[in-house]
Amino acid sequence: MKNIRFLFIFSLISVLFLSACNSDDSSGNSTDDTSENTENKQPLGESAEDLLANIVFDRLEVEFVSINGFEPRAETVSNLQKFLEERLNKPGGIVINSRSIDPIGDAPYSTDEIRDIEDAVRTTFNDGSTISVFVLWVDGANVNDTQFSKTLGTAYRNTSVVLYEPTIREFSNDTGEPGRVALESTTLIHEVCHILGLVNLGTPLTSDHEDPLNNKHCIVEDCLMYFRTEVQGLDMKVKMKNLMEVTPLDPLCIADLQANGGK
Ligand SMILES: [Zn+2]
Ligand SMILES: [Zn+2]
Repeated sequence: MKNIRFLFIFSLISVLFLSACNSDDSSGNSTDDTSENTENKQPLGESAEDLLANIVFDRLEVEFVSINGFEPRAETVSNLQKFLEERLNKPGGIVINSRSIDPIGDAPYSTDEIRDIEDAVRTTFNDGSTISVFVLWVDGANVNDTQFSKTLGTAYRNTSVVLYEPTIREFSNDTGEPGRVALESTTLIHEVCHILGLVNLGTPLTSDHEDPLNNKHCIVEDCLMYFRTEVQGLDMKVKMKNLMEVTPLDPLCIADLQANGGK
């Protein structure tokens, strides 16, 4: 029974990434019409090089907004800071500014509603040599979730990522499940890597490692950007390398980031 539950959990996690990227594809081909701050309302992957390299921008500011009561663990924020410092060329510094806000909008959320929330609460945009990223932790699930498919996070614009904290909590910290910090951090950094252009999503491939069955993901099973699903009867599963640790990028994905200006 435990084992079946285990597989079920991982099927949910795998579909999380899958549905995240389906949304990306459907929403990623046009610029939003809002006339303000258009530099931060471009399709996913547009700012990969700007985020990675020290060419146009030498500093990164992350606006990290949570709905009250749905904040991630502090260690998750530290894990993001550590990852960004390790991979991005930003000699001017990387700053994460966290704040919590009252609930806005009604769960469950569509990606369009998430965009509306961003438009209402985001205050930081590209400014001079500072590039801005917006990370939102919401208090509800994604509207497309079903009994068999859940979304934990989505990268939906060139500098925007959303995390569905109640769903992350539901599938972490029980026996056989990933730890809360590990699942929050792995989901967050996976989605952030999509705005950094992985895989073949604005950052060119330096080797042939894009998964042909799951576009924009990596073919290497131990990689953070992997999520090829394995169908076993009705169960799909994806590997998470270690339930208590953030899944790392493999050398092929790191090579892509480095060739596009990262470290
Ligand atoms: Zn993904
Ligand atoms: Zn990889």
